[in-house]
Amino acid sequence: MIAERVEIARRGIMLVVSSPSGAGKTTLTRNLLQKEENVVLSISVTTRERRPSEIDGVHYHFISSRQFERLRESGELLESAEVHGNFYGTPREPVEKALCEGHDVLFDIDWQGTQQLRASSLSPDVISVFVLPPSAPELKARLERRAEDSAETIRRRLGNAAEEIPHWTEYDYVLVNRDLEKSFDRLRSILTAERLKRVYPQDINSFVDGLLDDLRDLSRA
Ligand code: 5GP
Repeated sequence: MIAERVEIARRGIMLVVSSPSGAGKTTLTRNLLQKEENVVLSISVTTRERRPSEIDGVHYHFISSRQFERLRESGELLESAEVHGNFYGTPREPVEKALCEGHDVLFDIDWQGTQQLRASSLSPDVISVFVLPPSAPELKARLERRAEDSAETIRRRLGNAAEEIPHWTEYDYVLVNRDLEKSFDRLRSILTAERLKRVYPQDINSFVDGLLDDLRDLSRA
């Protein structure tokens, strides 16, 4: 019997996107979530103060330093780091659940967190992308346009960018975000190609076996 349609299962991908603040990473990742089915965002916990435009539980889970410490000590965070003087971490359970259900999980985390994921048992599923700004003045302009941070915070973030950018070499892919649409197409292409690489071998084997059986049947008919 010839199979009409065969679904080939694959493992979920952990797609990590890092960049200095203001390089356009948030827009890229939000667009990916909108346009791609089967991708879920890992919502981090943070001790940073909520910006006016942010919603608790959507952009981050905003928690106290004490709550953060408790989560970290009890092993409930997959990775964690101090960034710009605040603590950030990835809750373990939602990620494991999403991967088990076959979803791809998107992480908007820094290079320290990426290093930790790469060192963990989940590393075969980690694909990392570093987004660079087109220039230093453009990065500053983007941070100012956001108009949600103080001049002091913006200065600190620019200083931190110079420390973060050298880590681009630790990533699988690098995108220079000159044009949002082009960068988005590239990010989407990365996801598509990496998905295609991760077809389960046992499923592809049985798919090919069925295909060969059908071809033999057809060539005999
Ligand atoms: P922001 O405060 O601008 O939202 O984020 C500051 C930086 O922290 C960004 O580079 C962001 O990617 C990073 N970040 C956000 N969540 C996490 C997390 O859970 N873990 C790590 N390691 N970094 C995070």
